[in-house]
Formats: sequence, structure tokens, C-alpha cells
Amino acid sequence: AIRVSGLGKRFGDGGPVVLDGIDLAVQPGEFVCLLGASGCGKSTLLSIVAGLETPTTGSVEVADGGAAVMFQDASLLPWLTARRNVELALRLGGSGLTRAGRRARALELLDVVNLADAAEKRPHELSGGMRQRVALARALAQDRPVLLMDEPFAALDAITRDLLHEELERVWRETGRTIVFVTHNVREAARLGQRVLLMSSRPGRIVNEWTIADEGPRRIESPQVGRLSIEI
Ligand code: ATP
Ligand code: MG
Repeated sequence: AIRVSGLGKRFGDGGPVVLDGIDLAVQPGEFVCLLGASGCGKSTLLSIVAGLETPTTGSVEVADGGAAVMFQDASLLPWLTARRNVELALRLGGSGLTRAGRRARALELLDVVNLADAAEKRPHELSGGMRQRVALARALAQDRPVLLMDEPFAALDAITRDLLHEELERVWRETGRTIVFVTHNVREAARLGQRVLLMSSRPGRIVNEWTIADEGPRRIESPQVGRLSIEI
């Protein structure tokens, strides 16, 4: 679904090299977590895959239809209800649906993220977790095979984050999306990823990788992150 080859990035002439020779292949339907300390270049890499930044060297290919992106800040339009925020994404995404069709689809997507009851609420009437659910529904509305997520739950409390992890996992299984999830939280990466890639800065490279079994303890062990084992 995604193929990144020899990707390099430096901001401006003579600026520091932020990414240095990143190679990455993500299979269709795979859930990959990109883990790394603050400043190591995770967002830069994700932005390049999303087509929001241009690479200095190397190439990026994303499967037909490209990628939808979701950030830490839901950035919903405050004057529109949850439903209308999702409808807008359907309209801008060229869904080809009629007005009534967009309305029905928006309600369906809000149901997918367990927000059916809050469809007519505006962002200020929603909690942070609910706003991120709307943002997820909006990203799904774009109907792209790939979903790129940049620390979408970083601002949420641990309990809400746990809930959203369960929901995201369910949405991933139900929709067959390919997901690349950026986080600096080791536990979150181990909880969600089928594969976890560790990035390191100076220069930005992928320095370690783990495949995590579907069943049994989800364990990441490395001198770089210490030992972490999660039972689910
Ligand atoms: P965090 O976990 O804090 O979000 P990150 O891993 O996402 O960090 P990036 O935002 O990709 O890190 O930044 C990587 C490096 O690139 C940092 O040193 C940052 O200062 C630099 N950088 C990012 N964007 C720009 C820009 N537009 N111009 C110049 N330097 C930038
Ligand atoms: Mg970042």
C-alpha cells in the first residue's frame, strides 16, 4: 500500500538532515506504528507520505486513492455539527453522493465510531475523545485505502485513550484500511501495531523493528526502549 525508498529530507540549504535514507514498505491492510522520541522526524516522514511535504531525495508511492490524514488536533469546523463536519469531508472528497446520500453516509460513519447519539452536537459540546472520534469519521469519509495518523490520541487521558484504541482496532478490522500510526508512546505502539518501527534522530532513520503476534502478550524488547510487555 505504501512504498518509501531512500527517502531523505533536509529543511532549507545547509539545514540539518531530518530524514536520512528511509526505506519502508507497508502491505495493504497492515497496521504499522512508527515510534520515536520527540523531534526524530516522525511527523516529517508522515507528511511526506501524505504528500504535504516534498522529500529532498528518494521516492514515495501510495496505493490508488492516496491517504487520509488525522492529527493530534481534530481541527473540526466549530460552527458545524459533528454530522455536518463529516458531510463536508464527503463533499470535498468528491464522494459523488447527493446531499441526502451524504447525510445518510455521515450518520453511518458516526455510528462506526460510536457517536450516533452526538451527531447533532457542535465541537464545543463534545469531549476531546468525542472530537477525535469525529475526526476519525471524517478521515474515513475520504474513503482512501490508507489512513495516516499523527499522535491522534496524545492529548487524551489514559482511560479515553484505551477506549479509542479498542475502537480504532475494530474500525481497522471492519474497514480493511492500511494504517500508519505515529506515536512517541511505547505502550501505545505495542498495543496497536502489528509491526512497530523505531525511528531515531540525527539523522532520522528506522533503527529497529518488531512484529507483534495477534495472540498472546504484545512485547517489545530492546536496549533502546527498555523492556515492555503488555498482556491483552
Ligand atoms: P514530535 O514527537 O515532537 O512530534 P517528530 O518526531 O514528529 O516530533 P518532526 O516534527 O518530524 O519530529 O521534526 C523533526 C525535525 O525536523 C525537528 O528537529 C524539527 O525541528 C525539524 N523540522 C520539522 N519541520 C520543520 C520545518 N518546516 N522547517 C524546519 N525544520 C523543521
Ligand atoms: Mg510529530
